[in-house]
Amino acid sequence: MNRILEFCLVRILPLLPLRNGNKCKVSFYGIIGDCPALKLILEFIGHTGYYSCFYCYIHDVHVGGRGGKRQYYHENNIKLRHEQRYELESIRAIESSNNIYGHLGRSLLHDLLDIPLPHSIIVDYLHVSLLRHTRCILQQIYAKLSPAKRIILDQRLRSQKFPHFFNRKIRAVSDFSFIKATELKNLLLYALIPHMLYFLPKEQLAHLASYIIHGKKCFDDNTSSMSKELFLKYYQDHSVHYDDLQNLVLHLRLHFNQLFDNHGSLCYLGTFGQEDLIGAIGKSHHGTRFHGQLIAYHYEIDFALRNKTPLNRASSIENIDGPLDEVNETSDMLQDVTQHHRMICNCNKPEQLTSLSVYGEHD
Ligand SMILES: [Zn+2]
Repeated sequence: MNRILEFCLVRILPLLPLRNGNKCKVSFYGIIGDCPALKLILEFIGHTGYYSCFYCYIHDVHVGGRGGKRQYYHENNIKLRHEQRYELESIRAIESSNNIYGHLGRSLLHDLLDIPLPHSIIVDYLHVSLLRHTRCILQQIYAKLSPAKRIILDQRLRSQKFPHFFNRKIRAVSDFSFIKATELKNLLLYALIPHMLYFLPKEQLAHLASYIIHGKKCFDDNTSSMSKELFLKYYQDHSVHYDDLQNLVLHLRLHFNQLFDNHGSLCYLGTFGQEDLIGAIGKSHHGTRFHGQLIAYHYEIDFALRNKTPLNRASSIENIDGPLDEVNETSDMLQDVTQHHRMICNCNKPEQLTSLSVYGEHD
């Protein structure tokens, strides 16, 4: 990787010659990746060492035991890293050959990136949130269920139907060793809460819902502040519902609002988009030949999310209906719901049907 970066520094910067004779200035915006990759390129200590957060000086606590080597408990006054001190500390790490607040050396990215470190570091939602923390908490919930309930939960997850354009179904928790991030995303965003209604107490269910942090209102201008507020609540109460899972990946999520404010859509376009684009680096295998189309595809999603007509806040607050999304109900929709209810239930109370029960849980 260093040889690639050296090539970039020597051969490309500052001007890239084009075929038509013009020269193009290339700017390197930032670095995105999962924690092991970032640790290497940034010459930083890993999650098993002290001061391993790229953005702040949180001091993790060694607790020992299986799965609980280091814990990052919630703190109110976290001190963020400053760009100048970030580089100075990395130089001190080289001079002293010691871990200086997480630095083990000076990263080549200091000379390459146009945005100074640590502001140009973007942690990968796909790995940090989905493949790590989501999987860990679900496996712990699963382990605490009785064997009979585990079988029921697995059966329900396996039989969950999705529209065909989701491409992937969701897996049972017992098959999590082979789960893909896309499957975890579908489970987390669409199916987890309805399925967990029967297995978790309502306090834990509400706590889990605050982690999921999704919904219509999350896409307006208050996305980052709303998400942080919900996440802080989740973080503070984490030890009430889970054992020794306050690890680095949970803590990094605390900085997601800052990433969203600084980088906008780049902080999530880089996740599923980059998986599509890069394929397996180790095998020099590219995921696709259609790089341009994929970039356009993910930007179109972002554009669609941000280009919505602003809601009339006064009227939308009046119409809030608890856990249900706001929809413009039509008589056709109500007929569909009633008909669907008759197919799956004999209770003859379609008016009590909620959006969650429509999703396959009202039986
Ligand atoms: Zn931090």
